[in-house]
Order: sequence, then C-alpha cells, then structure tokens
Amino acid sequence: MSAANDNVVTRQVSGTERKAALEGQPSAIAVENIVKRYGDFEAVKGVSFSVAEGEIFGLLGPNGAGKSTLIRMMTTLIPVTSGKAVVAGFDVSKDADDVRRRIGVIPQALTSDPDLTVEENLSIYAKLYSVPKAERAKNIEEVLTAVDLLKWRGAEVKTLSGGMRRRVEIARGLVHNPHIFFLDEPTTGLDPVSRIAVWEMLNHLKSTRNLTMLLTTHYMEEADKLCDRIAIVDHGNLVALGTPTELKNSVAGANVVEVHFDRETELWRERLEKLDGVTSVQPESAGFYRVITKSGSKTTMQIVELAQQLGESLTSLSVQNTTLDDVFVHYTGRQLRDEQVKATWAMPQRPGMQP
Ligand code: ADP
Ligand code: MG
Repeated sequence: MSAANDNVVTRQVSGTERKAALEGQPSAIAVENIVKRYGDFEAVKGVSFSVAEGEIFGLLGPNGAGKSTLIRMMTTLIPVTSGKAVVAGFDVSKDADDVRRRIGVIPQALTSDPDLTVEENLSIYAKLYSVPKAERAKNIEEVLTAVDLLKWRGAEVKTLSGGMRRRVEIARGLVHNPHIFFLDEPTTGLDPVSRIAVWEMLNHLKSTRNLTMLLTTHYMEEADKLCDRIAIVDHGNLVALGTPTELKNSVAGANVVEVHFDRETELWRERLEKLDGVTSVQPESAGFYRVITKSGSKTTMQIVELAQQLGESLTSLSVQNTTLDDVFVHYTGRQLRDEQVKATWAMPQRPGMQP
C-alpha cells in the first residue's frame, strides 16, 4: 500500500465520522475489519468502512474482488468469519432479523420470476416481507411508479427487456420500504441505454425516498456518476476510499494535456519533457503529443508561453481530467476492462456453493 493510498483512506474515514457526528446519527452501515474465509481461501481480508445515512456508496472492483461476498455478509446471507458489520444499527451476526427487516437486496443475477407478471413478482415479496395487506397495493403502485413501470404491471416478466427486468427487481427490493438498499451489480449485462435508464432511476430514488444505497460495480462510469463515495476493492482488500473527486485528486501525474502544434519538429518532445511537472511525453502523430503532467493547468500555460516565445502556433490544446480508470490503475496496477467481466456474466451459478 502506498503512502498516498493511506492518506485517502484515513482522510475519508475521519470525514465520514465527522459527518455522522454532525448529523447526530449513527452510520447506516459500519463494517469493521470484516473477514470471509472459504476453507483456506480468504475472499475478504479485513475490510473496514462506514456509510452515512442518505449516501450512495459504491464498491468498485474487478471480478473476484470480493464485492458480492461483502454484500452477502452485510445482508445476512452468509456468516461473517470474523470482524463486525452493523447495518441500520443492528449487528448482522446477532440481530439478523432486525437487519433483514430494514434492508432491500438486489442480488447479482436476475432473480425475478419470468412466468409471473410484474405485479405478481412484487406481490410475492410484499407478502414475504409481511407488508400488511392494506398497504400492499399502495406500496406496489408507488414503487412501480418510481421505476416507471406502472403501465407494465400486468406484463409477464419474460416479455420485458433486460433493463426493464432490472427495474422490476429494483421495485421489488423496495416494496417493504427499506431504509438501506443493497444492489449487487445493478447494470451488469445491460446495454448502454438501459444502463443509463437504471442510473437515472437510482438517482431519482435517492432524491425522492429516504434511502441509503450500497452498490457494487465494475463500471467506472457508473461509480463516478452515481456514487457519493467509492471504495475500491481488489483481492479481498479495500485499497482506496473517497469521493470520486478525492480519488482522482489522490493520483498525481495523471492529468493529460493533448497538444497539436502547427509544425512538427523533433525538438517538441524534448521541450515538453522539460516543462514543470511533466512526467512523460507520448508522440501521437506529426506535431501531436500527449503530455502526462502533475498539473494540467500549469503545463497548459507553459506550452502556450513556449509556443509564443518560439513564434510557433498551436492547432489545438486540451486538458483531460484524471479519470477513475487512472485511479484504478494507480491503486491496483491493473486496468479494469469490460471484457474481463463479460465472461463472468455468462457464467452460471455454481451449484452446491457453501457459505
Ligand atoms: P466479486 O463479486 O467481486 O466478483 P466474489 O465476492 O463473488 O467477487 O468472490 C470473491 C472470491 O471468493 C472469488 O475468488 C470467488 O471465487 C470466491 N468465492 C465466492 N463465493 C465462494 C464460495 N461460496 N466458496 C468458495 N469461494 C467463493
Ligand atoms: Mg459479484
């Protein structure tokens, strides 16, 4: 773990505690040094974080990082090997029923019944969660409105698109008015348009219902767009934690300046490399360079000054902010690619898996 990494974790954890103290309420979720072992294999290796009420908190990591295992422990589906998780004020190991009553869970795989209608799927859950009969119809109507599926209430789930089916499951997870909503990869396997529709839905839910959300994802863009804070998990460890902006700022030297000079000369590369804060220069094509720098704004100004001094002109100049992709590479040493995960999505559930 690098020093920068430690800073991010420390800064954020204290930030959360401050926020919770200010609002005079405990965290919605507090996980302390939680471990999950399967035989000799440690799937989760002592992870700690807390989630404030009303927050959308993201667990971001590649396939096999331990995201689902973390969610299963927090939602009482599998026992904790050691450490502690307190959800909605209750210890998952001691007061599982109290936790279950206050949470909604959307598991990773599509789990709505394709042969039942949208409304029937919701109705079963409402009964399962002992929603009083008098409230069931009203709740179902409310959540179907929230996910924009009211007019599809009578449709069999198998006739719906993947994105709509996901929305049925989101509605189903909300039918008993939970305080805390856990979503395991809510948009994996969806096409880009449906994915954005689900994001909009979740943002809408956040602003209209008093919900705390914890979601897992391997989509950088999803974490960036949706989450107030993100924990990057890799090989069962939490490797970084912060707001998307904090995480991006924690990675030095990842600003990218793209500059296109009117005229190519061999000297450009050398000149650019000498500028303050520049860590590397990649020639792209004649006169076109990608400059990696610790300060995009400073380097941009220096490039303009340099061109002026030399009487050269620029065709274009742009600064790109650090992305969460850069952050991920920084903390894990690897790229988080979609291909890597598509294979998992197709993988059937392993039968006989033991918690
Ligand atoms: P993610 O959700 O981040 O893709 P998981 O939490 O599903 O990761 O898995 C983390 C690791 O734990 C993986 O290496 C996975 O193979 C292993 N694992 C998960 N569930 C079980 C189980 N029931 N038995 C043994 N190993 C498991
Ligand atoms: Mg998973």
